[in-house]
Amino acid sequence: MSGNPSLQTITIPDAMRAWSLCQRNVGRRIGFVPTMGALHKGHLSLIRRAKTQTDTVVVSIYVNPTQFGPGEDLDRYPRNPHADLTLCRSEGVECVFMPDSKTIYAPDHSVFVDEHTLSSGLCGRTRHGHFRGVLTIVAKLFHIVQPDLAVFGQKDAQQAALIRRMIRDLHFGIELDIAPTCRDPDGLAMSSRNRYLTAEQRRQALALPAALQLIAQYATQTKTPKADEACRLARLRLNREPDLRVEYLDCVDQASLETVPILKPGVLVAVAARIGTTRLIDNILVPEETTP
Ligand code: AMP
Repeated sequence: MSGNPSLQTITIPDAMRAWSLCQRNVGRRIGFVPTMGALHKGHLSLIRRAKTQTDTVVVSIYVNPTQFGPGEDLDRYPRNPHADLTLCRSEGVECVFMPDSKTIYAPDHSVFVDEHTLSSGLCGRTRHGHFRGVLTIVAKLFHIVQPDLAVFGQKDAQQAALIRRMIRDLHFGIELDIAPTCRDPDGLAMSSRNRYLTAEQRRQALALPAALQLIAQYATQTKTPKADEACRLARLRLNREPDLRVEYLDCVDQASLETVPILKPGVLVAVAARIGTTRLIDNILVPEETTP
């Protein structure tokens, strides 16, 4: 049977914890997909992956204020709880956790999760405090939901590396699954923020996946593909778009996030750019070589 007419929505952390305890007491493995809502097919692909590996799936929907910096889009971030619940129901999700900020952050809260290595590069260079906010909310959600497995997206590759590190360093004992990036038919990585784009901005945004594809091509067709040369080629493509301002384009090891000089298979190539007031990120992992 598809869909789940008896979806539970829970807003109180203790009630969420009790729900999870009941599941575990009857031997069910809990899968968890944290989101900020405005769900799209990328989110749904995470839910489906969680479903295949567990007995029940919890989705959280919470726009976490501590991961937005001053002047970022916290206030205008798309919120559509009714549509989100309909989608969750049709995916057979059994429980949606939708806390509010008062229950998640005590008025005098003063404990955060900080990471000091992986969070400094890429998005960390401009989004100061962003990953502190992300790790803090994910740690809270892990403690409340107590999942066996958590599914995150490769779309946010730096976030995925940081969550892996936090699970290891803080001994969460939670399995982590990273799902590939879902794209629209034109190649643009799906994102809740894509709805900010005008038609013209969206056209220019296609330079991101196009530039990443150029790098993949160069890497698979060159004997010793150099990161510098790959980035030079990609920037030529990106620079063709008048409203697109590249924030970074980096080739890094996907676990340590340290820059690498040569594009071996599995290297993470990550890009961030602004188009108007919208900030977009995208990335690829360098594919296996195809040269004879
Ligand atoms: P968000 O709601 O943007 O915080 O994202 C929630 C989760 O969905 C994160 O683990 C993201 O990496 C993942 N996600 C966002 N966009 C995509 C996408 N296009 N494909 C796959 N996963 C995604």
